[in-house]
Amino acid sequence: MSDLLALPEDWSSALAVVAHPDDMEYGAASAVAKWTSSGKRVAYVLVTRGEAGIATMAPNEVATLRAVEQRRSCDVVGVESLEYLEHADGLVVEGLDLRRDLAAAIRRHRPDVVISINHRESWGGPSWNHADHRAVGRSLLDATRDAGNRWLFPDAGEPWNGVRFVAFSGSPQSTHAVDVTDFIELGIASLACHELYLDALDEPTDPGTFLREGARSFGERFGCEYATAFEIISP
Ligand SMILES: [Zn+2]
Repeated sequence: MSDLLALPEDWSSALAVVAHPDDMEYGAASAVAKWTSSGKRVAYVLVTRGEAGIATMAPNEVATLRAVEQRRSCDVVGVESLEYLEHADGLVVEGLDLRRDLAAAIRRHRPDVVISINHRESWGGPSWNHADHRAVGRSLLDATRDAGNRWLFPDAGEPWNGVRFVAFSGSPQSTHAVDVTDFIELGIASLACHELYLDALDEPTDPGTFLREGARSFGERFGCEYATAFEIISP
């Protein structure tokens, strides 16, 4: 029997909140493609523009170009709403300012579920996770709870208590999975939109090889060809 449970999919709207352009595309976007194709609404909120992500290019130039690539990525997987919270890439601070911005986004979108990427210290093994991913994930869990409390951040919209769970893709503590066998190609296409970033990597990464490899191993655990795994936390 699989150690991964089926991620509940009896909901109609999700808000994906991540630190950088391309974060959703490293695995979660295949599940997003599946959800939007079945009529669910998924919106993306990016905390930064990923402007400090390319050593050989100036941040203001990178911010503009990456926004174009992110827009294409969203189009590939059926995501219309794409917003930026304009925090500084690489320097995202966990705490009240971020919680207020995230709570405001949750109150604006009123989602049934919230999606993000791994906020644990590592990706499994000796690989330290990015400071922005850790900060966003932890503040996101707090903000999901804050969003429902009318006494917190009263100038940041009407309270929203409707988030059932927050699902983090790529977590070494994954608990659930989504069968993305029919949608992995769309997920690969959405990552391939990030040409600027992929070209700047020290070790060239083929989006198809990379994503199929990860999704195949989760698929083996979950009992299908390709799966995306998530750690579910109830705030
Ligand atoms: Zn990132």
